[in-house]
Amino acid sequence: MKQLKQQVYEANMDLPRYGLVTFTWGNVSAIDRERQLVVIKPSGVAYQNMNVEDMVTVNLRGEVVEGHYKPSSDTATHLELYRRYEQLGGIVHTHSTYATAWAQAGMPVPALGTTHADYFAGDILCTRALTGDEVNSEYECNTGKVIIETVGDVNPLYTPGIVVYQHGPFSWGKSADEAVHNAVVMEEVAKMAWIACSINPHIRPIDNYLLNKHFLRKHGPNAYYGQT
Ligand SMILES: [Zn+2]
Repeated sequence: MKQLKQQVYEANMDLPRYGLVTFTWGNVSAIDRERQLVVIKPSGVAYQNMNVEDMVTVNLRGEVVEGHYKPSSDTATHLELYRRYEQLGGIVHTHSTYATAWAQAGMPVPALGTTHADYFAGDILCTRALTGDEVNSEYECNTGKVIIETVGDVNPLYTPGIVVYQHGPFSWGKSADEAVHNAVVMEEVAKMAWIACSINPHIRPIDNYLLNKHFLRKHGPNAYYGQT
């Protein structure tokens, strides 16, 4: 668990480093599947004052197992996703500007080019709005549920992120580090898509054969990108 705490701490510190968070917004978690324990950022602690020991360990029911702080207020959303998708090892939530702008616009981030296709096998989906009841009771848990409703039964690693309507982005990966990497990519492609749509309001989505070529050369059974 010590190693996982270190990974989660470093992944959290990467958020301000990559310009994805302002003040204390944003959080990263990771799961130890064998022990069924999740390590997550403490709630409301400023990044510059945060230490490895401040990370909070919770079980999948959300009970604190170790740590002197309260876990992130978004913990229930993370847990909902870990319980549903066993492929996930790490989750990130931020209010990064460009991805959040798409969330506020209530629109998916469209797949327009190969940068996007290298990581996402299609549009980055936007969830539906939560209802009043969903917001007023178990809000964070329901945020997880609405993400699951949108992602569905596909492998979540094929589109490792989503924007929650009128809220902001969640991203994930096989580890905390990979989830942060995907959060950075998501912010970049959200920015590129905004600019591209401004240049050409009649823009067409990326051609399917090009999207598939780029996604599958990095993912999928016949991936050949990078060093072997
Ligand atoms: Zn949020």
